[in-house]
Amino acid sequence: MMVLNTSQFSAIRGERMNKSELTQIDDVAKADLKQLLMQYHTSSNGLTSQAAADRLAQDGPNTIRNVKKRSEILVFIENFTSMMAILLWISGIIAMAAHMVELGIAIWAVNVINGCFSYWQQHAAQKATDSLKKMLPSYVKVRRDGQSLRVNTEDVVTGDLIELQAGDAVPADARIITSANLEIDESSLTGESVPVDKTPEYHHDQGEFSQDNMLFAGTVTTNGTALALVYATGMDTEFGRIATLTQGQKKVVYPLQRELNHLTRQLTIIAMVIGIAFFGLAIFFVHYPVANSFIFALGMIVAFIPEGLLPTVTLSLAQGTQRMAKRHALLKNLNSVETLGETTVICSDKTGTLTQNQMTVNHLWLAGNTYDVTGTGYVTNGKIMAGNQAVSLEQDSDLTTLIRIATLDNDTSVDEGTSNEKAKILGTPTEAALVILTRKAGEDRQALTKQFERLGELPFDSKRKLMSTITKTPAGNWLIYTKGALGSELAACDRILDKGVVRPLTEQDRQRIVAANEQYAREGLRSLAFSYREVTADDPLVGTKIADYTPQTAETHMVFVGLMVMSDPPRPEIYDAVQKCHRARIRIIMVTGDSPVTAKSIATKIGITSANARVISGDELDQLSDDELRQALKGEVIFARVAPEHKFRIVSMCQKNGEIVASTGDGVNDAPALKRADIGIAMGVTGTDVAKDAADMILTDDNFASIVSAIEEGRTVYSNLQKFLLYILNSNVPEAAPSVVFLLTRGLVPLPLTVMQILTVDLGTDLLPALGLGIEKPEPGMMDQPPRPQNSHLLNRQIIWKAFGLYGLVASIISTCAYFFVNYVHGWPNVALAASGSLYAQATTMTLGAIIFCQIAAAMNCRTQISSVFSVGLFSNRRIWLGIVVEIVLLGILMEVPLLQEIFNTAPLNSAEWLFLACIPIPLFLLEEGRKLLVRHLRVRSQS
Ligand code: ATP
Repeated sequence: MMVLNTSQFSAIRGERMNKSELTQIDDVAKADLKQLLMQYHTSSNGLTSQAAADRLAQDGPNTIRNVKKRSEILVFIENFTSMMAILLWISGIIAMAAHMVELGIAIWAVNVINGCFSYWQQHAAQKATDSLKKMLPSYVKVRRDGQSLRVNTEDVVTGDLIELQAGDAVPADARIITSANLEIDESSLTGESVPVDKTPEYHHDQGEFSQDNMLFAGTVTTNGTALALVYATGMDTEFGRIATLTQGQKKVVYPLQRELNHLTRQLTIIAMVIGIAFFGLAIFFVHYPVANSFIFALGMIVAFIPEGLLPTVTLSLAQGTQRMAKRHALLKNLNSVETLGETTVICSDKTGTLTQNQMTVNHLWLAGNTYDVTGTGYVTNGKIMAGNQAVSLEQDSDLTTLIRIATLDNDTSVDEGTSNEKAKILGTPTEAALVILTRKAGEDRQALTKQFERLGELPFDSKRKLMSTITKTPAGNWLIYTKGALGSELAACDRILDKGVVRPLTEQDRQRIVAANEQYAREGLRSLAFSYREVTADDPLVGTKIADYTPQTAETHMVFVGLMVMSDPPRPEIYDAVQKCHRARIRIIMVTGDSPVTAKSIATKIGITSANARVISGDELDQLSDDELRQALKGEVIFARVAPEHKFRIVSMCQKNGEIVASTGDGVNDAPALKRADIGIAMGVTGTDVAKDAADMILTDDNFASIVSAIEEGRTVYSNLQKFLLYILNSNVPEAAPSVVFLLTRGLVPLPLTVMQILTVDLGTDLLPALGLGIEKPEPGMMDQPPRPQNSHLLNRQIIWKAFGLYGLVASIISTCAYFFVNYVHGWPNVALAASGSLYAQATTMTLGAIIFCQIAAAMNCRTQISSVFSVGLFSNRRIWLGIVVEIVLLGILMEVPLLQEIFNTAPLNSAEWLFLACIPIPLFLLEEGRKLLVRHLRVRSQS
C-alpha cells in the first residue's frame, strides 16, 4: 500500500469530497448489514475462494496505481541539462564557430555519452530500489470458505471479510461487522493524530470519515480487533481517490545526496574560478588566441567538476541496499546506509530477535502439582507423562482448567500440515505453543470453541501484559479466562485454585509462585500465568454489556490457576553476531517485555552482558529521573518487563548521551521509538504494519544477526564511496598539471595534454574502474573498528590529502616525465619541444597513457584503506579488472584509429613507450602496499 504525505491529504480533503461521495459512504454505513452481505454475495463465512478469485480477475488488484509518473523522456533529458552539460554544449558551439569543427563535435559526443551513462546509472539505481519494494508484500487476515487465512493485501476483493487486530493496516474501505475495543488512527485521512473509537453501530457526526462503523484504506488499527466487510478496493477507495489528486510529489533529498550536491557545487565553483583564471592567463600571459584559450580553460573546468559523482554514488548506494536485502535487511531509504555505519548502540527486543521465537511448553506449574513435559516427560493423548507416571487429565481437574484456559483464551491457529512441512502458524508463537500442548493433551479445540461460545475479548496489549476472553459455558454461565505475565496476573488475582478447591490467595502462595517462576526464569525459560473468574449471580459484572467490559472491571478478583513455562532458545548465529558488535564497539541494550530474571539469564548466556549487568524493570524505570537513566545507560544494562512506550524514553536518553541508536520493534506501540531512533528496525515476519511503516529498515528474517550484517554492509558501502571519491579526485591533479606547466612556462612547453585528452580521461576511462570500487567487499577488520564519528564528512581531510597530495602528485610527476621522456628520446633538450605534428601527438599520447596507467595503480590502491590488497584478493573484484582492460583497449583504439587520432591528437606508441607505461602501475602499487604495511604496523604499536 502506498503511503502518501499526511499534510497533502489534509490540505486537499476540503476540495475532494463532494456531496454524492459523502452520501455514498453514508449509505453503506447505514445499510442493513444482512442486506449488505447479500449485496456483496457473501456471508458470515466470507466469500468462497472461487468467488474471490473471480472478483479479483474482474476488479483488478487492490493497489494504488501511480497515475502521475514522471515521463521517462523528461528524466532522460534532465541528464543533458546539468550545468556541466550546458557548459559542454556551449563549448562545442564555440569550438565550431572557431573552425575547430571536429573538436566541437567531439565535445558534444562526449557530452552525449556522459548523459546516457548517467541515465543508465539512474535507471539501474531506480530498478534496484523498486525491486526492494517488491520484496516485502503486506498481508491481511481474511475469512474465506469459513476459515481464516492470510492473503496478500493486493488480493483483497469487495465482499471479503477482513479480520483486523492492533497494528494492522486497514487494506480497503470496509464496514465493521463486529469489533472489540477498536481504535483506528485515521491521521492519514483526517490529519487528526488521536486514534478514534470505532464500533459496529452507526453514529454519524458531521464531516468526512466520521461514520463510526466504517474503516478506510490507508488508516491503521492501533487497538482492539474487528471483523469488517470490504466494499471498495484499490483506486475505488477514498485513499485511492485522494491519491489520484496528490500524486506527483516532490522528490526527497537525503543528507548524503545533499552533501554530495554541496560538494559538487563547491568543486564546480572552484573549477570555474580556476577556469577563468586560466582563461585570463592564457590570453594575457601566454598570448593564446581567445577561442583556444576558452577551450583550454574548459579543459580545466571539466577536469575539476566531478560530473559523474551523484549518479554513481546513488547507484552504489542502491546496489549496497540490494546486497543488504540479500542478507535479510531491507532499507526503506538510501540515507540509512550512512547512519548504519555510525550506529553505536542497538536497543533490541529479546523474543524472536535474539531468540528463535520457537516456543515449546516444557513445564506446567499448579498449586498442587508440577509437570515436567520435557525429556522423558511429555504430553500425549489425554495424558501427561510425568517421569514414568501417566496422569490422565481427568485425574487432575486443576490441570484440565489450565489447559482449557490455554485453549480458549487463544487467538492463534496452527496448521501442522504434513510431516515434512513446518507448522503454519496464524497468530503468535507464544500462543501456538499453547495450542500444540493442548492438542497433544487431547483437547479438541474445535469442539470446545463450539461448546464454549466466545462472547467477547480484551485483546493482549503489551502494557498490561494480559489477554482475556469472555465465554459462555454450555450451562449458560459466563467465564472470564485470562492469561499473561505473572506480575500482572498476581495483581489481578485474589484467589487460587488448589486441588479442585478455590481458596484465598495468601502472601505465602504468592511467594511460592514467584519463587517457582524465578527458578524457571534463571534457566532462561519464559512463563505465562493463567487465571479465570466466574461471573456468578453476586458478581458486580452481572448485567454489564460485553462491550462495556474493560480490563479494570473484568481483570480483577480472578482465581489463579497456574503457569505454563516455555523455552525459546537463542538463535544459533547470535553468539557470533554479539561478539562482532563488541569488537565493533557497538553496545547492545536488551529491552524486553519478558521478566527480569529470564532477560538476564538470556543476556548473559549469549554474551550481551556480564552477570553484573544492572537490570531495570519498567516500574523502576518510571522512578528514574532522566539524569539517572542517562547514567545507567552508560553502563551494562538490561531493561525487562517494560512496555514499548518505555522504549521511546530509553532511545531518547541514549541519543542525549550522544549515541547513534538503532532500535528494534514489532508492535503498534513500538512505532514512536522506531521513529525516534536513528535507525528504526521492524520485524518483517512478526512485525505489525504500523511498525513496518514507522521503521527505516525491515528485517525479513526478524534476526538480530541481520542487523549486524546490515551495519557491516553500511560501513562497507560508505567506505566504498570514499574509495570511489578518492579515485575520481586523484586524477584531477595530473589532468591539471600539464596546463599549469604550459602556463608557468608561458607556452614554452606546449600543452602536454590536450583538452580532448582531458575529456577522455575525465568522462571516459576514469569512470569504469570507479564503478568496480562501488562493489568492493568489506575490508578485513571493518568490524574491528569503532563506528564512524557522527557527522563526519564523506570527503574528509585524509581523502583530500591522499587524492591531491599523494596519488595525484605522484601521477602528475610521472605523466609529465612521460611527456618529456618522448621528447628526450627524440633529441630534447638539444631540439625544441614539438608543438605540433607527430612527435607532439606521440608525446601527448604518452602523457595520456601515463595518466591512465597511474589510474590503474590508483584503482588497485583505492581498494583498501589500510589492509593489503592481497588480503581481499588481488583478482577478487572482477569489475575493476574489466574496467582496467576496457581502459587499455580504449587507449589502444584512440591511438590506432586514424579518425580518432585526428580528434584526440594521438599517435601510436612504440614498444619502448608501451614498456614505459606498463612499468608504471607495479611500483606504485607496491609502494602503496608498503605504506599501508607501515600504517598497520604503527597502529598496532600505538594500540599495544
Ligand atoms: P520482547 O519484548 O523481547 O519481544 P516479550 O514477547 O516477552 O518480549 P511482550 O510481547 O511485550 O514481550 O510480552 C510481555 C509479556 O506478556 C510476556 O513476557 C508474556 O508474559 C505476556 N504475553 C505475551 N504474549 C501474550 C499473549 N498472547 N497473551 C497473554 N500474555 C502474553
